[in-house]
Amino acid sequence: MSNVFVIDSDYKPLHPVHPARARLLLTQGKAAVFRRYPFTIVLKRVVEQPEVQPLRLKLDPGSKTTGIALVNDANGKVVFAAELHHRGHAIKDSLESRRTVRRGRRNRKTRYRKPRFQNRKRKKGWLPPSLESRLANILTWVARLCRYAPIEAMSQELVKFDLQLMENPDIAGVQYQQGTLQGYEVREYLLEKWERTCAYCGKQNIPLQIEHIHPRANGGTHRISNLTLACEPCNLAKGTQEIEIFLKKKPDVLKRILAQVKRPLKDAAAVNSTRFALLERLKTFGLPVECGSGGLTKYNRTTRGLPKTHWLDAACVGKSTPDVLVHKGNIPLLITATGHGRRQMCIPDKYGFPAKHKQRKKTFLGYRTGDMVKAITPKGTFEGKIAIRHRPLFQLGKVDIHPKYMRRVHQADGYEYRSKGVRNVPPHV
Ligand SMILES: [Zn+2]
Repeated sequence: MSNVFVIDSDYKPLHPVHPARARLLLTQGKAAVFRRYPFTIVLKRVVEQPEVQPLRLKLDPGSKTTGIALVNDANGKVVFAAELHHRGHAIKDSLESRRTVRRGRRNRKTRYRKPRFQNRKRKKGWLPPSLESRLANILTWVARLCRYAPIEAMSQELVKFDLQLMENPDIAGVQYQQGTLQGYEVREYLLEKWERTCAYCGKQNIPLQIEHIHPRANGGTHRISNLTLACEPCNLAKGTQEIEIFLKKKPDVLKRILAQVKRPLKDAAAVNSTRFALLERLKTFGLPVECGSGGLTKYNRTTRGLPKTHWLDAACVGKSTPDVLVHKGNIPLLITATGHGRRQMCIPDKYGFPAKHKQRKKTFLGYRTGDMVKAITPKGTFEGKIAIRHRPLFQLGKVDIHPKYMRRVHQADGYEYRSKGVRNVPPHV
């Protein structure tokens, strides 16, 4: 499993330790549990000159899941790994439902007014709330990890492929072989440009091969503008034919392919505004930020023989990736953004009539919805996230439990935590 974070009594981050060492410190009374997720212990003394090896925080931001890894560049050890699941879709859905309800209501209830569409301005750098939430999630965790671990540098996957590497004429002439870094970059580029489909038959979700439009046998080059993607049957069928001959009977397909070939590089580079916005905000932490491409990540992961997971992808971001990544036994912390509840005070019934009103208070007997608790009851021991009621019987999973049996393990912070393969994390508390 991942290492345990340690801070001293001045809240200064020390080097993370093995869980066994943390257990020893806790049983000897030299430390106390500081927080459960991520598991952090606090020493009961000040460490004047701590022995700290700098760690690198690596991020692979995705639309649904962001991989997070803390890597010790000196010995290649993955100290901590997590996968952060975002709630952008939930935000988008609820904003859309609010919009439709509001529009319907105003159509029913308000006299006609001229539409006003041009009276709204957006600040520079504005992002839709769903994307903003992803950024906020990531930055929350970056700030949190910076508090508990000696992080000295960051790496972020910024682009899907390195355009400069391909536009560079020296490299464009070199053979794009699979297995080389350029090969990976080119593959990522072609996948993006040709939308992960076979150029000839339009099939998707199948293994695709790199195809020379003007065939190699007839003097076609390895230049990126001569490459496309094809499935194996199409690739074999085309063989060494010229594209005009191969697609003689399908003039519209030929026209489409030739038009797409001419599409300039810049259009194909799906510039992801969220990732650039993330980079800008990561820079505000004052640490050096290294940027990598998706092709480089894939190359690093494949050459090190690692499986594809979000956290291992994160560990492989950037040129700084150590030659050997020690990741055995690492169990990523699965973090799911849940939000902090909703502002809606009136809960309607299925006809839209107000059925009940929410309490103004969010807590009851010191507990709030989303708290992780451990409950030891006469019927057995339960652990998990609670939903409170404003009477002493809270919901824990599918059972109702009186708060007198409960002990809070982790205060609600807008995230839900799980760990793959481990029932309770960590097992020694
Ligand atoms: Zn095909």
